[in-house]
Amino acid sequence: MNSVIQCAHCGGLFAPNLRVKNQQYCGGKDCQLARKRNWQKEKLKTDPAYKTNQKDCQADWQRETETRSGKRNGDQKRQKSLRQLISDDGKRKGHGTHRIYAF
Ligand SMILES: [Zn+2]
Repeated sequence: MNSVIQCAHCGGLFAPNLRVKNQQYCGGKDCQLARKRNWQKEKLKTDPAYKTNQKDCQADWQRETETRSGKRNGDQKRQKSLRQLISDDGKRKGHGTHRIYAF
């Protein structure tokens, strides 16, 4: 007979899965989310590389959002006119001055 344990999130009693070591959360949706959050919190504390990855994901997500909201269009126009200036300047001076302006 399995003994029941108390869920660390909702406090409800449940029979833990014997294959899961140190199970602290029941199968409830909120409880599983809480388990994941807690795991991420622990991971952030102990694994700096994981934190960096999270930041990268965040940056990707922001770029994606900006692209969708059309904010990027303005940037592209601005960059195009800057590139125009750069190539004109480069032509005048006859060598790679554009390096100074590289983004
Ligand atoms: Zn629970």
